[in-house]
Amino acid sequence: MKKQLQPIDAEALLQEHGFKKTPLRIMLLEVLSLSPIPLAVKTLQRKTKKVGADPSTMYRALNAFIEAEIVQAITVDKTKVLYELVQTKNHMHHIVCDSCNTVESIPFCVKNIDQQAINMSRLFKKIYSHQLAFVGTCRKCLRTVR
Ligand SMILES: [Zn+2]
Ligand SMILES: [Zn+2]
Repeated sequence: MKKQLQPIDAEALLQEHGFKKTPLRIMLLEVLSLSPIPLAVKTLQRKTKKVGADPSTMYRALNAFIEAEIVQAITVDKTKVLYELVQTKNHMHHIVCDSCNTVESIPFCVKNIDQQAINMSRLFKKIYSHQLAFVGTCRKCLRTVR
């Protein structure tokens, strides 16, 4: 049932948003587009080692992507933030294990969640996207808990 992930055209996406095409930005987008799960900065750093970026450059690039709504950050807790491409087509949510950080993507969404939120809102008329992260304990960690 696993879908084959296709790398996105990172250069076209950067151009579309008016970004300079630096090797790091291109690689970041490619790595994110090929990952079925959201990734931590540490993982991103490992996977973009070839273009060798220091953490602050990496964070700057990610924050710029977030501002441009190309990437979204999922905050698991205060110290854990995961990054993923904003997917308009294959919209999914994730469950994160709070002891080993295992992430599973589940093709699940609350029906009409945006509409329901808008119905309760006094100030907004339109919602483009939402984030919803599930945190729990994975099967493997459950077994090792005594
Ligand atoms: Zn676990
Ligand atoms: Zn959803």
